Amino acid sequence: MEINTKKDFPIFKNNKDESPLIYFDNASTTQKPQCVIDTIVNYYTKYNANIHRGAYGIAEKATFEFENARKKVAKFINANNDEIIFTKGTTESINLVSYTFESMLEDNDEIILSEMEHHSNIIPWQRIKEKKNIQLKYIPVLENGELDMDTLDSLISKKTKLISIIYMSNILGTINPINKIREIAKNKKIPFLIDAAQSIAHDRIDVKKIGCDFLAFSGHKIMGPTGVGVLYINNKFLNKLEPFLRGGHMIKEVDYNFSTWNDPPWKFEAGTANIAQVLGLASSIEYINKIGIENIKKHTNHLRSYLLSKLKNIDNLIIYGHINDNFGPIISFNIKGCHPYDIAKLLDKYNICIRSGHHCGQLLMKKMKTNYTNRVSLYYYNSEQEIDFFIVCLKKVIGILK
Ligand code: PMP
Repeated sequence: MEINTKKDFPIFKNNKDESPLIYFDNASTTQKPQCVIDTIVNYYTKYNANIHRGAYGIAEKATFEFENARKKVAKFINANNDEIIFTKGTTESINLVSYTFESMLEDNDEIILSEMEHHSNIIPWQRIKEKKNIQLKYIPVLENGELDMDTLDSLISKKTKLISIIYMSNILGTINPINKIREIAKNKKIPFLIDAAQSIAHDRIDVKKIGCDFLAFSGHKIMGPTGVGVLYINNKFLNKLEPFLRGGHMIKEVDYNFSTWNDPPWKFEAGTANIAQVLGLASSIEYINKIGIENIKKHTNHLRSYLLSKLKNIDNLIIYGHINDNFGPIISFNIKGCHPYDIAKLLDKYNICIRSGHHCGQLLMKKMKTNYTNRVSLYYYNSEQEIDFFIVCLKKVIGILK
């Protein structure tokens, strides 16, 4: 199975280096197809105006396209339109929930996270802990890279006010048993937030089927622009939660000493939105729909197995997790005696981009008894040939470093 959509991506065309660009850092951000870039340019060159304000033609067009983008995002994850809040990214989405939840939490309340969380699903909760005497509890990660689900029941108490969990690990690729967690949360009537920053790129997400209360993701991980993200808020919370940021556009009426709020979703979208980015995100979703998310999943799963089979033949190479097929196309590894930074830096000489570092997951690094890993994360435009070339270059690099 070989798929090549590289022609849609100017970054792969414009490369004038001897070696073509091999981009294996898709968990960090994805490349942008021409249609997404065109959508942004089109807005700025043809109908740039603020939204929800002007009575003139281009302002009405901008407003129409913006709200149409919301509909496309809603359809993509099977939400209602007013359940889609545009933010700056996953980080801001989780912060929005944490700020609005703060007033509902009391001393000794508890929030359950996991040791696998990206820092953006830890620090916002630690902020509340700095102010209130709440407790953060963590589902442990097993040595094999999976969550220790047997502990979840014992972590839950009458004081548990939220469970907030990563769907696909950005370090190990672990696909967590989100339905099982949802079942437990639902039975105990505990709100459930999903960090879908990685999984949104690799699998169909249906918020109604999952039955979560909140779901966060970023546009730039699905070939959309940076600066736009989504927070899905289940409609049962839309009127319960206080606004996050306050200012223009999120109000109904302003008086000297008090104000009333606009209807959701606008109540959560203070100030001028990232209009071009929202339009770009809708365009990337259209592009994904054209390919079919199932085809993306099939291709990246195939590449994952292909890469694993090659990596397993390299001496002294430790692969973290990936003990079964319940892992996505994100592979972390270390090579005994080689610093991950040196590996990544030397691979750059061949125009190969892979990551080295803690990948915003220091808790998981501690658990894995390392400070850093190399990480290869694959996407739809990657190919077997690229993996073959990467393996040749990786062996050369190891030879230089040993
Ligand atoms: N959660 C996960 C699982 C991620 O991979 C990332 C990005 N690496 C984030 C949250 C944060 O996303 P953003 O930087 O776009 O806000």
